[in-house]
Amino acid sequence: MAVSLNGDNAIQVVNLNKYYGERHALRDLNFTVKRGEILGFLGPNGAGKTTTMRILTGYMPPSSGSARVAGYDVSKNSLDVRAHIGYLPENVPLYLDMTVADYLTFVARLHHVKNVNAAVERAMSLVNITDRADETIAKLSKGYRQRVGIAQAIAHEPDVLILDEPTIGLDPRQIIEVRDLIRALGKEHTIILSTHILPEVSQTCTRVLIIRNGQIVAEDTPQRLGSRMSQSEHIHLQVAQNAPDIGSELEKIQGVLAVRELQGDTYEIETTLNHDRRAEIAAMAVTRGWGVLELRPVRLSLEEVFLQLTTSEEETAELVGENGAAENE
Ligand code: ATP
Repeated sequence: MAVSLNGDNAIQVVNLNKYYGERHALRDLNFTVKRGEILGFLGPNGAGKTTTMRILTGYMPPSSGSARVAGYDVSKNSLDVRAHIGYLPENVPLYLDMTVADYLTFVARLHHVKNVNAAVERAMSLVNITDRADETIAKLSKGYRQRVGIAQAIAHEPDVLILDEPTIGLDPRQIIEVRDLIRALGKEHTIILSTHILPEVSQTCTRVLIIRNGQIVAEDTPQRLGSRMSQSEHIHLQVAQNAPDIGSELEKIQGVLAVRELQGDTYEIETTLNHDRRAEIAAMAVTRGWGVLELRPVRLSLEEVFLQLTTSEEETAELVGENGAAENE
């Protein structure tokens, strides 16, 4: 029986530490992943992503702390964990001389799946490789091999999928296909994917967790991370009728810190944090007859956030204090 601390949590990590000899690779990691989430695990080289994934998949014990997957403790019930988790390692160990169907049959048997043929058919259909069933894996392109890798991870219908750098080495078209596939799989599975690729996170994940030196430095939706990291809000305004006094007029609105004219008809307005001034700006534009063509908030890109978090000591310390230990709901 699964012992679930919270029915909504597919993964719960509490005070997880890992030492490799003297090296402290994971430092009191705390986070949860709710059922149905696609969590992006982002961090520079050596941050601890693979270590965390290996612990979650039961391939390596933690030095201290605990992790539960689908309610099972990774240290105490590692066989149950493996039954409920699908793992795509960075380098998938595929048997190149086997056909796709034979390899997946072999994997399904390893997992003691009841109806092996049905499981193989289902996995091939989900990753869209049914037409390659009888081809040897050696003959497949890298993108198709990656699909076989994902098929082996889902063959036993696990609740949770862990994907380590799922699009690494793929060409742009294959990357789009694999991302679409991950999003589709996210409808039925809880997913953690690790990546260095920032657009991958914004395009695929519902939440992002940034890890650095074995610690969580930020955790939020990709969109909210951008605004949280800012010291002020920025609003983009485009007007139909430009006028010389637009900048000085806008600066009269309470909370507007600065106005920068970008081109003839566009302005970037900096305002104090947490006060949306768009209504006042729109009202002024109507009164003055400028005509609003566009009025939208401008957020830091995830790339900018990532760079800030992984390069600036000060901001990292601030965020860890404020938000580092994930809420263990
Ligand atoms: P990358 O993006 O480069 O794959 P990562 O975020 O996955 O990095 P890990 O592979 O988890 O990082 O490594 C975290 C830290 O632990 C690094 O400092 C790494 O050198 C160290 N480490 C990882 N595996 C071992 C090992 N088997 N023995 C000793 N140290 C290790």
